[in-house]
Amino acid sequence: MLIFNAMNANLYSIRMRSSQDARHISGAERLAPAECLETLAAAMVRRALEHERGCAEQIHLTLEKIDPKIIQHIPLPDIRTLLVDDVSQGRAAALQLLEKAGVTRTAASAAMEAMMRGASPEGTSMRGAMLVDSCSGARLEPDAARGVRVTRMDLTDEAAGCLRPLLQGAGVDNPHVREALVLAAKVLAAPGIVAELCWSDDPAYTTGYVAGPGLGYVRLPHLKPAGEERGGRAFFLAPGFDVKEVIAFLEGAVVLIDRIGTLHDPERWRP
Ligand code: AMP
Repeated sequence: MLIFNAMNANLYSIRMRSSQDARHISGAERLAPAECLETLAAAMVRRALEHERGCAEQIHLTLEKIDPKIIQHIPLPDIRTLLVDDVSQGRAAALQLLEKAGVTRTAASAAMEAMMRGASPEGTSMRGAMLVDSCSGARLEPDAARGVRVTRMDLTDEAAGCLRPLLQGAGVDNPHVREALVLAAKVLAAPGIVAELCWSDDPAYTTGYVAGPGLGYVRLPHLKPAGEERGGRAFFLAPGFDVKEVIAFLEGAVVLIDRIGTLHDPERWRP
């Protein structure tokens, strides 16, 4: 849906990525009016310098004016939590969810194994996500170190104002959850994407998720062991969709999220 709104006339994309010896450290992406850019830029630089994975040696900040005519408005997915006891249950649950979303067992296992060993050619985390054929499991992203980086998306102030108290009530109002929800919303709106799998490269953050158009955003409290630095994302693309078109949407389309989904009570996973 394309909506022109006077509030959006002054919007910029601001994004940061940081690295140390070519190793990806952190990233952030927001959409904001001109008057907020200085504050946001300072917060992003601080984040790059104080990240748990190390102090950045290179910090790239990109700011660009957005053409308000190209802004698309989309909703956030519904949020669920499946309670699992450990990483092996978490990964079994993730495989089951991916299959339910239409990913073959071969493709889901291949992506998960790549994330476990570090999906970049060096065996470390990628800067972006793998794009994976949901049937064969083939990697489709043109650059296996960079991957596909989803940018140019954010919540409207109104949607953020509704989301934060909702997440607070469930004890999960943290940047990991907020930023991942926004990213997943854009991924699920992309042509041909049937599911996403993610766990963080932040060593202390073990919760990951599977998202899918029919599943919503499903949090799994143990998707990797504590202390593990290798994280990643896989976007599963149905056969027959154009890779260039989906990458152009994920990297280039400007998406504002103006509606939030339902937050469901946690449920125990049953194999
Ligand atoms: P994070 O959840 O920020 O710890 O990121 C986990 C992994 O997701 C990273 O190692 C990247 O491989 C990938 N990733 C992070 N940000 C993005 C993004 N904007 N677009 C695509 N993939 C990303």
